[in-house]
Amino acid sequence: MSSDPDASAAASAARVERLASSPLFPFEGEHRLKPLGEPMAHELVRDGEAPDRPCHSCGRDERVLWHDERWKITPLAPSVNPVGLFLETVEHLDLEDFDDRLAAEYGVLTRHLVTAIDSLDSVGRVHVHRWGDGSSHFHVWFQGRPARQPELYGWGNVLWAQVLPALPAEVVTANHALVVAAFAGAVGGTVVS
Ligand SMILES: [Zn+2]
Repeated sequence: MSSDPDASAAASAARVERLASSPLFPFEGEHRLKPLGEPMAHELVRDGEAPDRPCHSCGRDERVLWHDERWKITPLAPSVNPVGLFLETVEHLDLEDFDDRLAAEYGVLTRHLVTAIDSLDSVGRVHVHRWGDGSSHFHVWFQGRPARQPELYGWGNVLWAQVLPALPAEVVTANHALVVAAFAGAVGGTVVS
């Protein structure tokens, strides 16, 4: 198999340019793709899976805004997004461990949490992410993105939210209280005030 290093570099530069020219991309100037490192010998060990990776969710009840027997809602660190919440399982579980009952609950809770977040005037749409690479609690990110700010649409939000100044904590906290109250009104459970 032969490859032309110049052609490969040009193709890479074109892909980078295509990405960097998107209005969703937050950075200006020249960009160069860095090489990948070697693959790891085994998959990442997540929080809660080994003694040297303690869980950062269990026992931190002071962070919980809402809970029932199997689920809890906790806040993300404030960002430019008016709302940032985790929906996570009380137990250490992955999605593939769910029985049909838990899967059904996940769908119903997601629907009502999205509706509650989307009811805020400052929120344009709710982005729902599941990555799963950090914590061994099944956890989903609910980001209420700012209304009418086109750079923060779609995947742009993941990048911009990490580099723009965060909204004041009291604004985000008040938004979360409204969301959790509306959510609990629809699904029950306990609001922690
Ligand atoms: Zn835990």
